[in-house]
Amino acid sequence: MKVRADLHVHSNLSDGVHSPSELLSIASSLNLGALALTDHDTIDGLVEFMNAEVHGCPIRISGVEISTEYKGVEAHLLGYFIPTQAPKLVKRLKALEESRRKRFPKMRSRLESEGIRLSDDDIDQVLQGVKAPGRPHMAKLLIQRGYVKDIEEAFHKYLGKGKPGYVKKEHADTAEAISLLRAEGAVPVLAHPLTMRLPDLRSTLIELRELGLLGVEIEYDYQHRRLDVKPGEVRAIAEGLGLIETGGSDYHGDGAHRILGSVTVPIQVVNNLRKAHEELRSRPSEAISG
Ligand code: AMP
Ligand code: ZN
Ligand code: FE
Ligand code: FE
Repeated sequence: MKVRADLHVHSNLSDGVHSPSELLSIASSLNLGALALTDHDTIDGLVEFMNAEVHGCPIRISGVEISTEYKGVEAHLLGYFIPTQAPKLVKRLKALEESRRKRFPKMRSRLESEGIRLSDDDIDQVLQGVKAPGRPHMAKLLIQRGYVKDIEEAFHKYLGKGKPGYVKKEHADTAEAISLLRAEGAVPVLAHPLTMRLPDLRSTLIELRELGLLGVEIEYDYQHRRLDVKPGEVRAIAEGLGLIETGGSDYHGDGAHRILGSVTVPIQVVNNLRKAHEELRSRPSEAISG
């Protein structure tokens, strides 16, 4: 029975390894009932994702994971049920993509100061077809060139925050991103909240809900947790606030994240998200209902 959904997955349009169609084929072979594509800061993979002909295909949910910042803290904002035409959202995402492209040479020159030499050809190759380049692409290059043994070492030595190759990326403001998503009828959900450096998760979720947040990611494999809050406590807070509880593997195919379908939620969650999406579409003028 196809009763499980993986609602957080990256393709090779951002920093995943597989194409959108390949992800669908894998999900189908795993008997998943639904799959959401949530690339970082780009929705360019969604046309292929929504239209690919795949045998025994799961329900597909068009999504995105926007890099935002809330009161100086990095907050990843998932958006579900992105429409095919979303000009304002696309415009904002294009700016984020562009700033990611400009960030890459900056990371390269920082790494050069550390004695790391990367050729233009290597960079072109690793970024081929990529719309939203990120640190995982740089990590891949460092592994290929033998500077580090794996992605963990790449982040630990060079790419993590405060390390010599780190360059901060541009973030959208969380409130702005929530409004942009809602204006398109897409459902805003806070991703992996326990990775955020927050003084008080509950207060933050209350504030974000007032800004129009509708859900929070509960099921997630936290290998790196910044908050000393247990996932069960997040569930209790979400329940109390009436937020939709989502989850997913955050699959990238890079060995550093869990594998596709390894973290799932009941398919009912898809219905909850769809209902919220339909409500947003039926009353766009009341974009923020709290
Ligand atoms: P960026 O958006 O370019 O700053 O890169 C952040 C992405 O790098 C995250 O979404 C993860 O996919 C990945 N990442 C972050 N930290 C690590 C780590 N320690 N090991 C492996 N991948 C990581
Ligand atoms: Zn990523
Ligand atoms: Fe994320
Ligand atoms: Fe992600």
